[in-house]
Amino acid sequence: MPEALLGAVEAGGTKFVCALGTGPRNLLARAVIPTTNPAQTLGRVADFLADSAHRHGPLAALGIACFGPVDPDPTSTGFGHITTTPKPGWSNTDIVGFMRSRFPVPIGFDTDVNGAALAEHRWGAAKGLDTFVYLTVGTGIGGGGMARGRLLHGLVHPEMGHVPIPRDFAKDPYPGRCPFHGDCLEGLASGPAIEERWGRSCTELVAQDEVWELEADYLGAAVATYTLVMSPQLVILGGGVMQVPGLIQRVRIRVARRLAGYVQHPALQGDLSEYVVSPGLAQDAGVLGAMALASQALRKSRLYSNRHSSHV
Ligand code: ZN
Repeated sequence: MPEALLGAVEAGGTKFVCALGTGPRNLLARAVIPTTNPAQTLGRVADFLADSAHRHGPLAALGIACFGPVDPDPTSTGFGHITTTPKPGWSNTDIVGFMRSRFPVPIGFDTDVNGAALAEHRWGAAKGLDTFVYLTVGTGIGGGGMARGRLLHGLVHPEMGHVPIPRDFAKDPYPGRCPFHGDCLEGLASGPAIEERWGRSCTELVAQDEVWELEADYLGAAVATYTLVMSPQLVILGGGVMQVPGLIQRVRIRVARRLAGYVQHPALQGDLSEYVVSPGLAQDAGVLGAMALASQALRKSRLYSNRHSSHV
């Protein structure tokens, strides 16, 4: 039996990355569609998927890894919607409903970061683990991950980018830029926060030690908090800001300092280079996350139909 063809949509605030394939080594078609209004953007995404499926074979399932906040609860009436985004025109957009009207296949839907976490679990740095955190530090800061082999959900989904962070106002008087909380982690440490505080682009700031020392203070405090709260076996730090040379090493030092030897485990000894790591899927992590969600949705629907048919 040939491998099932999976559709993948990484829905972002500035662009939608779409693909059709079976996994990281077999992406048959790919497109980048700018995020405009929902009807136009989703229409172009659906057209790409329909055209690609026409060329390569029928779509078996679809995965959508979406910027948030979203409703990821399949039992909720709001399932598949973007909820309270500050992105104009996108609040209460029913992404899954739109796609379901065009593609009658199993659809997986989750946050972009839970999608990326699932892809890292399947193909990347978190292979073989069951409890880990994936944090992306870029235009915003978002976190997802798994606990005991299941993607993190609860009331809604974690918002690890919005945790409060200890800070020294004398050292950093910048008020923060999160529209909800001001100086939460995202408000202090996202790419736009760095650029607003220092008045220059991250690229121009790359050699400025004080910029990255402060950034590492904030990220290190957050990673130590996640470690204390959920005891992850691994913390993956991705996103554009984390590509600054040396930043991850600085973060590791802060994490160790914050934990202060309190949590005892071999993984937390030494320089933490095996504990706080870069993603295994450097490129295409987002769209592969969507593909992993599609694969998971397909597996669940097959399990359900097998169980269902065994009772007939
Ligand atoms: Zn916030």
